[in-house]
Amino acid sequence: MRVNDVSGGERESRLLSSAVFFDFGGTIDADGVPAAIRFHRAYRAAGGSLPQGTFAPLYRVSERRLAEVPGIRAAGFREAVSAQAALIHEGVPDAARVDRATMAARFHDEATAVVARIRPVLERLAATLRLAVVAAAPGSLRSCLADLGILEVFAAVIDAAELGFERPDVRLLATALAALGVTADAAWMVGDDLDADIRPAASLGMKTCWIAPPDREPPGGVVPTLRLGRLADLERFGG
Ligand SMILES: [Mg+2]
Repeated sequence: MRVNDVSGGERESRLLSSAVFFDFGGTIDADGVPAAIRFHRAYRAAGGSLPQGTFAPLYRVSERRLAEVPGIRAAGFREAVSAQAALIHEGVPDAARVDRATMAARFHDEATAVVARIRPVLERLAATLRLAVVAAAPGSLRSCLADLGILEVFAAVIDAAELGFERPDVRLLATALAALGVTADAAWMVGDDLDADIRPAASLGMKTCWIAPPDREPPGGVVPTLRLGRLADLERFGG
């Protein structure tokens, strides 16, 4: 891959990379916008009136409860989104005014629109590089990718829940490197979470790409190789 340095400056170097690993939630489906923000938007579109600050802790409760929903580990993307919308609906004080199905549909449609834009980019990258997803998902990561029509572009799918490792456990990335038969210095990790995605990859000697909206302040302590506002921009650096 060809990369700019993270400041977007003039320095450009060509690196020999043979594999690119991607996080899923917030990266492939959202260009770095956290699910809490996207669900808040969906909730407002469905009739809710709480501000983001009041909604955020209720969202976190729904996230914890989602992990305990029977059968959730086998769920695809639509089913997982629907289950989480139901839990949010149960937790908000203005539920009577919020249409649960509208909230789920809004979140789902926004994500599928992002994926539709990214899919051809992934397909073109997959022509010259080996791609993998290394992530945790509320449902089955493989089913979520299949639901979104992008499973086949990935040479490996490393599901944290399936392996019993929690991010940022570096064994997840090590499993992906072994699955694709590449060394850390020949691989990139692309993700929206500095702690879960970028830090462990950098610690293994991988190159890293942080997907974050331009107004996001990095917390410090870890510097990604590259920062992009949209995952689709990754293609400009492929080669
Ligand atoms: Mg993420």
